[in-house]
Amino acid sequence: MTHDTAPLLRVENLSKNYLGRRTLGDRIAGTEPLTVRAVNNVSLEIERGEILGLIGESGCGKSTLGRAILRLHEPSAGKVWFGGTDVTALGAEELKALRRRMQIIFQDPYASLNPRRTVAEIVGLPLFLHGLAKTKAEARDIVAQILEKVGLKANQIDRYPHQFSGGQRQRIGIARALVSHPEFIVCDEPVSALDVSIQAQIIQLLMDLKRDMGLTYLFISHDISVIGYLSNRVAVMYLGEIVEMGPVDSVLSRPRHPYTQSLMSAVPEVDEPGRHQRVRLTGDLPSPLNPPSGCKFHTRCPLAIDRCKSEAPKTEMLEPGHQVACHRAHEGVTVLEQA
Ligand code: SF4
Repeated sequence: MTHDTAPLLRVENLSKNYLGRRTLGDRIAGTEPLTVRAVNNVSLEIERGEILGLIGESGCGKSTLGRAILRLHEPSAGKVWFGGTDVTALGAEELKALRRRMQIIFQDPYASLNPRRTVAEIVGLPLFLHGLAKTKAEARDIVAQILEKVGLKANQIDRYPHQFSGGQRQRIGIARALVSHPEFIVCDEPVSALDVSIQAQIIQLLMDLKRDMGLTYLFISHDISVIGYLSNRVAVMYLGEIVEMGPVDSVLSRPRHPYTQSLMSAVPEVDEPGRHQRVRLTGDLPSPLNPPSGCKFHTRCPLAIDRCKSEAPKTEMLEPGHQVACHRAHEGVTVLEQA
């Protein structure tokens, strides 16, 4: 089944639910456990060659969304179209073939590499899975080339992960993702486990590879500075939903959703220190097991009104390409005025 659309990736009303753990109370009462709505009704598009930054607090569902798009976690509802193919309708064999074109770079280079395998085996595995190399010698040649491309040395091919630094291990993870020449990569917090001094090198590497290999990224991060630096567009996620999305300049310089405004207020202004008022959100991110009614942000929103408690806001386009889900977005009032 195909869908002739221009974007490389189109996500339509995607949801991912998990059944919560059955508690003693559930057993006594004979009730079913609550459902965790990790991703709720998310729609977005990514053009070929674009970087869409996905930002939000830890636990908001960013990584689950990335994995549901790749079907590493099976979506509960909705569709994912990739280059005209309905990813959600594919059988196991077709999905395996498509995985060559859609890859992921994981957050934790320590945990994502098998410590008992050499770099040749780790990076070479996708070549055999996708029939891109027939012999070990052929695979070693390709792996050696990709190692050089990600800033490692070809003569490191027989080493094990523990013989590398954190930044080098992330380079191995990047090499593994790129060796099958994908078109689209979910970068799932690829620098947040690294030392600050190494982060800039890995970000620059990802930008260079994107340019040289014509890649398209969904770049997940909780760091708004990183997202602002490399993204073309930004999507802001709160409790499993996209609350604001648009071109990076528009969203980060004129955030319209109170949650985005709060995130932005926490970013230090280098050229004008002290210009920003910082808005501290009260309370923790609510549990997706029992999300607030109405607008899910109303329990922490400095601008909340009665309507927000009962009515979920619809997503509206306020400027070309810039969409927001907030009852008060039209008023132009900001959380900074309330701080
Ligand atoms: Fe705040 Fe209400 Fe807007 Fe939600 S809808 S972000 S609670 S003002």
